Amino acid sequence: MEEGARSCLLQSRSSLEQDIRASYLMDHMISDGVLTGDEEDRIRSKPTRKEQAAALLELLLRKDNQAYISFYNALVRESYGDLASLLHNSLPLVSPEAEKSFSDGGTRYVQAVLSEGGVPQRPVVFVSRPALVNRVREKLYRLQEPGWVTVFGMAGSGKSVLAAEAARDHALITECFPGGVHWLSIGQLDRSDLLVRIQSLCFRLEQQSQEKDPSSSLHRPPGSLEEAKERLRFLMLRRYPRSLLILDDIWDSSVIKAFDIQCRVLFTTRDRSLADCVSGSKSEVAVESGLEEDQALEILALYVNGKPQRLPEQARSIVRECKGSPLVVSLIGALLREFPDRWAYYLHTLQQKKFKRIRKSSSYDYDALDQAMAASIQVLSEEHRELYIDLTVLEKDVKVPAKVLSVLWDLEPEEVEDVLQDFVNKSLLFRDCHHRPYLYYLHDLQLDFLAEMNRSGLEQRYSQGPPTSGDEECLYWFRFLTYHMAKANLTQELCSLMFSLDWVRTKAQIMGPAHLINDYVEYGAILDKEVRGHFQEFLSLNGHQLEQRPFPDVVQLALSQPDSSEVYRQALLQAQERATRG
Ligand code: ADP
Repeated sequence: MEEGARSCLLQSRSSLEQDIRASYLMDHMISDGVLTGDEEDRIRSKPTRKEQAAALLELLLRKDNQAYISFYNALVRESYGDLASLLHNSLPLVSPEAEKSFSDGGTRYVQAVLSEGGVPQRPVVFVSRPALVNRVREKLYRLQEPGWVTVFGMAGSGKSVLAAEAARDHALITECFPGGVHWLSIGQLDRSDLLVRIQSLCFRLEQQSQEKDPSSSLHRPPGSLEEAKERLRFLMLRRYPRSLLILDDIWDSSVIKAFDIQCRVLFTTRDRSLADCVSGSKSEVAVESGLEEDQALEILALYVNGKPQRLPEQARSIVRECKGSPLVVSLIGALLREFPDRWAYYLHTLQQKKFKRIRKSSSYDYDALDQAMAASIQVLSEEHRELYIDLTVLEKDVKVPAKVLSVLWDLEPEEVEDVLQDFVNKSLLFRDCHHRPYLYYLHDLQLDFLAEMNRSGLEQRYSQGPPTSGDEECLYWFRFLTYHMAKANLTQELCSLMFSLDWVRTKAQIMGPAHLINDYVEYGAILDKEVRGHFQEFLSLNGHQLEQRPFPDVVQLALSQPDSSEVYRQALLQAQERATRG
């Protein structure tokens, strides 16, 4: 054993002898291979606890660095954190080679602590997000007292993976959470399910603590949520005071309240505001929804066992199409591993928004983005859900102020603020805070999802033919969006909406060309005269066609406009895009 470690042991000897229970520590040391069964027997044969402690220390002084580290780790795991800290500064350095042998970045000790606490392992295909991980670790280092770290972000942004990764750190565990890291997956559940989850956590904690102290008894499972909360409070306070509880994927304030027991908690959620209803110190980390392009490509490459530089050209397009969503990239990567020739097909599937085909069973809660999104929307109140679905009218990459939504929803500005806050908190909507007033926008994937959801609803509803007057209420926004935009003085946005062939196609299909023509006349004064002329001309010439069902191909129709027309220009672009997509 190196000199520093040896003298530290000698200095701390009397404190250690006073407190440690050798029998607990020896189990760990035997499993680390630094103590033999014979040695253990000899120590156990000593009549008193103190003599056993003295004998263990005596033996330890004759052993090597590895034994010192194992003894230190055993102290940490047995909640002798104060004693472990006496030895901490003299811990011998482990060679980099030895550290590397733990392939997932943690030391053997870290792996043992995390697996005991039920923390999931890294996904098989994994890329590191060092800046984010460090941000979470930094918050955890500061969590000296009971309190909460919220890790929030949209569905599939990698929150659970990140939370587990942040805990996978030797220094963090030994310095801050020597009592362990205890993971509990939550998800959407009712009170009875929640009780079962807490019962199983209590059982796990009691069992582990009984292994360490056979004199402590196992209790019958708590019978009610209140009892479960008290049991957990007792366990965390008395048996695991220096530990971290990780609650993965919390949806509901009633759930988080059940864990308001004065301990240190990290939880992942889509709803940023959940921490508001519990007590203690709070901090939060936002998880960006997308990976950097390089990281996303690396995931694809790992799935297909190739090098990122050698991926086919569609790889970049796939990443771009889903904005680097870890969930979608992994889902597609997993599919490509099975069907390596399908790059173009999956790219096309993504472009067509056929999310339901991008399915792959996974060990995580949601195996397809649509399910994850649908689940997010499902938890909104009915009223908010309807308002959220109205957001389909937002155009891609257009950010709007609250005022527009106030006219769209016909609500008072204060009410709108509340609704928007709810959506932003649940990662269903994004807020651009660089502008005053704030601007709101949807992630492309969310917009696509909403459009898809609405389209199938509309298709189903109107498969019998164009809507009758009784159906018009649900088409409110298609009808009045232009009106509301004009009223809110969003001239520029109104122009880009009305001068878009996509908008013309959708509105004509749902409401018929007459409404569209009416819009161009109505807002003629604020639209560019020449471009307005192009669209009006197109509609007047093709109005009868646009009444037909099946609905004609608008791009084809528009290509017969003069070259100088804006309608022609957009149609040409779309036709070219179709051609390159194949
Ligand atoms: P969330 O908790 O935000 O819903 P998860 O952490 O469950 O998201 O991640 C969703 C999926 O994305 C995972 O199943 C995994 O396949 C993939 N993923 C997330 N983070 C990473 C990462 N760093 N490297 C590789 N894949 C990742």
